[in-house]
Amino acid sequence: MSNLGKLKPWSPSIPPEFFSLNISSKLSTNSDDIKESSKDFGKIVQKILPAAVLYPSCVNDIIDLIQFSYDLSVPFQVAAKGHGHSIRGQAMAQNGVIVEMNSLNNNNENCGVRVSWESDLRFYADVGGEQLWIDVLRSTLEYGLAPVSWTDYLYLTVGGTLSNAGISGQVFQYGPQISNVHEMDVITGKGELVTCSKDKNSELFFGVLGGLGQFGIIIRAKIVLDKAPTRVKWVRMLYDDFSKFTKDQEYLISIHHNGLDYVEGSLMMEQSSLNNWRSSFFSPSNQAKIVSLLSQNKIMYCLEMVKYYDDHTANTIDEELKKLVQGLNYLGGFMFKKDVTFVEFLNRVRKGQIELELKGMWDVPHPWLNLFVPKSNIMQFNAAVFEDIILRQNKPTGPILVYPTSRKRWDDRMSAIIPHEEIFYIVGFLHSSSGIDECKILDDQNKEILNYCDKVGLNIKQYLPHYNTKEDWIKHFGKKWHIFQQRKTQFDPKKILSPGQNIFNL
Ligand code: FAD
Repeated sequence: MSNLGKLKPWSPSIPPEFFSLNISSKLSTNSDDIKESSKDFGKIVQKILPAAVLYPSCVNDIIDLIQFSYDLSVPFQVAAKGHGHSIRGQAMAQNGVIVEMNSLNNNNENCGVRVSWESDLRFYADVGGEQLWIDVLRSTLEYGLAPVSWTDYLYLTVGGTLSNAGISGQVFQYGPQISNVHEMDVITGKGELVTCSKDKNSELFFGVLGGLGQFGIIIRAKIVLDKAPTRVKWVRMLYDDFSKFTKDQEYLISIHHNGLDYVEGSLMMEQSSLNNWRSSFFSPSNQAKIVSLLSQNKIMYCLEMVKYYDDHTANTIDEELKKLVQGLNYLGGFMFKKDVTFVEFLNRVRKGQIELELKGMWDVPHPWLNLFVPKSNIMQFNAAVFEDIILRQNKPTGPILVYPTSRKRWDDRMSAIIPHEEIFYIVGFLHSSSGIDECKILDDQNKEILNYCDKVGLNIKQYLPHYNTKEDWIKHFGKKWHIFQQRKTQFDPKKILSPGQNIFNL
């Protein structure tokens, strides 16, 4: 970062007085900073350049920024940028100001991660919205505690995942991350710092959870903690039959007493999908066994499950696990087990990331598509999408996740959108492309999937949604559109926040 303090007005939407505000020394219009702040993991949306980047050192810097914009007759837009792991420019702001949330970390008075014991006799962590989940994990483990709900990948910010939902194989048991927040401090689109919870300013609280950054910038979230296990039993089982695979997944997520802590699943289509960047798991000898199986089946299914344990349960864990897998219909001889630390399991994607970075395959376009598919339609989805549209492509271009979860722990007052059925599947096409041409092919495939689901009425919902028309957004939110709009009018009436989501500026 350079050129701080030597600023000039850049865009017609930002008046010159802006650059003489108290925060001007923390603003940059340097072209390298502008370019850097307008990048994201997706690498699909380009040239959405902000006019300036704010590197806040305290919460008041963000309040000053938003209040200044709010008081203008023609305000400029502001996007909080967490770790920039969006796929389609969701943290960008054309001619506006990007707030690099990470720079709050440079202030010692910042919230950081603070563990507390509350009057309801539970433990919580007060966590800055800019914190990465890996740092939340490390800090809470110092107290023998940890959050209960995770994402597969931990280098995402608390503010970024709470703006979506924060999901992984723990959701069926503990709910998404947004269901494990007790209280938040949020700066609204009017520049007001508001503390909110289920009981206090609840409209803002529920609006912000899964609210795609539309109602406020999350400054602090109080996250539910529980005693952390020390180790996990990590099991994968292979199936050659989708129906058996999903039936077993559904059975496993239905066990609540003494059940599992994590259930996921994925498609395996050729050797490269044995150990992908999401985690390396199979030993070379097991790989050879699986490769011969894959030569007989175009698609295999891998059920992945985890049970946590610690010193107190170390003697009984194997017996418990044995009971849990009794009667499951995986292919005989194709169950594989690992015993790893809790951190090794939660941080499993990091190793794959480092390997891909070394091969120059991490910083590439990622045309991802993430969907929620109602249970009643998953067989039809399998036949039309996995067994037809996906098989037509020459090779897998990344992990394809498929696992069921339950509505039970999602509060319908939150902004997040899920299907109406009690059980629905989380399906993720996590494509990496070698360049723009392949990215286009994969994106066309995504469109084909969406068009098919729409045409036959599979009632799917997009996760990390992206739409190009207002009608599509209205359809996405369904009955909740009205309240979503009302909340926008209440908390961000001038439509300043997170314009990159493309909801209110279409
Ligand atoms: P950014 O991309 O920086 O921002 C995302 C949106 O949130 C933007 O609109 C931004 O303006 C807004 N925002 C950012 N910070 C704040 C804040 N403090 N307050 C209010 N709004 C804010 N998701 C899952 O649920 N489960 C997974 O397992 C999972 N795995 C992933 C793995 C990888 C490799 C990647 C790239 C993404 C994954 N995601 C997953 C998706 C991820 O949760 C979202 O893209 C998330 O928004 C990224 O967080 P971020 O900090 O990078 O946010």
